[in-house]
Formats: sequence, structure tokens, C-alpha cells
Amino acid sequence: MRHAVTLVPGDGVGPEICDAAVRVLEATGVEFDWDVQQAGQAAIAEFGTPLPEHVLASIRKNKVALKGPITTPIGSGFRSVNVALRQELDLYALVRPVKAYKGARNLRDDLDFVIVRENTEDIYAGLEFERGTPDCDHLITEISGLLKKKIRPDSGLSIKPISVSGTERIVRFAFDYARKNKRRKVTAVHKANIMKHTDGLFLAVARQVAEKNPDIEFEDRIVDNMCMQLVLRPKEYDVLCCPNLYGDIISDLGAGMIGGLGLAPGANIGTNGAVFEATHGSAPKYAGQNKVNPMAVMLSGVLMLRHLEEVAAANAMEGAIARVIALGENVTYDLKEKRGDPTAVGTSQVADAVVAQLKAGA
Ligand code: NAD
Repeated sequence: MRHAVTLVPGDGVGPEICDAAVRVLEATGVEFDWDVQQAGQAAIAEFGTPLPEHVLASIRKNKVALKGPITTPIGSGFRSVNVALRQELDLYALVRPVKAYKGARNLRDDLDFVIVRENTEDIYAGLEFERGTPDCDHLITEISGLLKKKIRPDSGLSIKPISVSGTERIVRFAFDYARKNKRRKVTAVHKANIMKHTDGLFLAVARQVAEKNPDIEFEDRIVDNMCMQLVLRPKEYDVLCCPNLYGDIISDLGAGMIGGLGLAPGANIGTNGAVFEATHGSAPKYAGQNKVNPMAVMLSGVLMLRHLEEVAAANAMEGAIARVIALGENVTYDLKEKRGDPTAVGTSQVADAVVAQLKAGA
């Protein structure tokens, strides 16, 4: 069966790593109709916006997209395209597996847990008020009056909404994901001791959802403790269900535990579609240099194959990537012990090596 997939190469290093991932995906034998759509810097130049409506329309139609990273222009008035895309398509769950591959610079070789990050709420909702604007001054006066607490008048404000309905669906998703992927436990991550009406709500709702899923173990951890526990006792954790900000931060912690951002994939899932992308950003200083690791977007492609129920191809592709990592010959600088290692290869050579492994394993 052919799959229609929207391909958003993004900007910065996006086009070269997506090109590498597409070559490997096609070498699995699965057939794709790629609907290539520009977003980010290239789209600003052509359409005056980094996220044109026709890009969203393409993803809505195909329901599946592979996406490269997109730079957030600083000080231009554009908010993060990545956050906007998740909100526009209501991709409410971001699944980020943290899995150690043999030969990578792992903290331990048996790491295997999954971060399920809520993707639409929390302090990332974009409810921000700039310091010194009339709206911000008005809110400071109102809030100070309501709470009888002083807010410094030279403050900016960001609002953190966490809802019952938003929490219910992400925690339900975490339990469903655990069950489907034969995982034993869900841990809710929060800071309910400090933020009682947002994180406290998240925890209370998570406990209610857990009661309806007695076949999967449930526990909770305060986010700072969670970070320490993950480094000291990672085997005790399985599926971590996090509000948006903590999920973002723990994703980079997880990436650091398995050898860096070059190996950290992700899947944004919603009721009407799914967008697969690496955890890392557009690494603009390396753009066009054939330098960075394409494996995070390749592994995101593996997640996409699983989503498309192309399980054999997904396993073959993951196995081929794992063998290239284990052999350690055709890997980029970030997987080498020393950054300046002259034996590091470039982005496209990694794709060549993974394709060769795929063919050898076929
Ligand atoms: P980044 O992830 O782009 O890069 C940080 C550093 O990590 C790089 O300088 C590089 O040393 C390393 N790195 C990243 N990806 C790598 C790879 N594939 N192989 C090897 N090394 C890699 O983070 P940043 O510099 O904070 O962000 C750059 C831009 O990307 C910003 O505009 C940011 O908003 C955007 N961003 C986009 C996404 C997304 O599209 N989903 C995610 C995060 C950041």
C-alpha cells in the first residue's frame, strides 16, 4: 500500500537531515507519495508567513507528516512555528522514546523509557503579556487586587492554563500507549506542591484516570526529583506523563542520557493526524554543512512507519540504524568520543551506511 505523507523539510539543517531520512525510508521498500511543503524561513520569503495555511491543509488531508526542525525567528513577531503547528492541528500528545543503542555514548546501556508530553497547554499556550504594555499593566493591577499579593510593576506575564479535559486526554493517552506497547507503569510528573491549581489539578485528574486503568501501575513524581531519579534509577521508570514544559525539559535530559539530540526522535499525535519530528532544533550554525546527525529524524521515521502499521519495515530500519551506531564507523561527530574526531562522517554518508545495512539485512 502507498502512503501519502506531507514532508516539511523545515529550515536550518532540516532539508539535509530530511533528505537523508527519506532516502532510508524509501530503501525499506515502503512506497510513499511525498507532498513536499515549505514552512519556516523559506515560507516567510515566499508567502510572508512561516506557517502558510496550505501546509496545515496538506497535513490535515494526509493525516501524517514527517517534519524537519524550523527556526523560531527572534524578535520578528512570529511565535514558534512548531508550537503553532501542534496547536493548530491539536496534536496533543508528543511521544519521545528514550532508548539506548549499543555503541552510543549512553549513560547506561539498558535505558528504555518513553516521555509522553502534553503538547497544547501549560506555559506554552502562548498567553503572554509584554512588560509595560497597557494590557500587562491592567492585568498586574487586577491580579494584585484579587490575590492581595504584590506583582512588581516592571514584570512581564505568562499564563499557565492546565485543564481537566486536556489532562484527562493526555493521561488516557499515556495509559493507552503503555498498554499497546506492553509497558507496565505510568508516572505522572508535576510540581503540585507549589502550583496547586495547575499541577495540582494535573495530578488529581491523573489519579482519577489511573483508577480507571488498574492493569497498569501508576505513581507520581515531583519534577525536580524525577530528574534526579531518572539519572540514578532509570530502570524504575517506564512511561512518564508530563505537562508541556516539564516534558520539554525532560526530553533533553533523556536525549543527554542516550548520547545526545542526534538520537532523540519524536511523534506528535492528535485525533486527526500525526507529525513526526526529531527533538532537536534547526541547529542553524551547521546548516548546509553536511555535518549533523540525521538519525533523530530517521528514528522519527521509524515511529512513523509503526504508526502506518508498516511494522516489518520499521523493525528493519531501526535495526539498520542500530547496526550503524554499533559499528561506529559511519557516524557523525556527535556520536564520537571527541568532537573533533577526523573519522566522523557527514549527514549523507550516514544515510548511505544505513541504506547499505538495510540492504545487507534484507
Ligand atoms: P538545536 O537543537 O537546534 O541545537 C543545539 C545544538 O545541539 C546544536 O548547536 C548542535 O550542537 C546540537 N545538535 C542539534 N541537533 C543535532 C544533530 N542532529 N546532530 C548533531 N548535533 C545536533 O537548538 P537551538 O540552537 O536552541 O535552536 C535552534 C532553532 O531551532 C531555534 O530557532 C529554535 O526555536 C528551533 N527549534 C525548533 C524545534 C522544532 O522544529 N521542533 C525544536 C527545538 C528548537
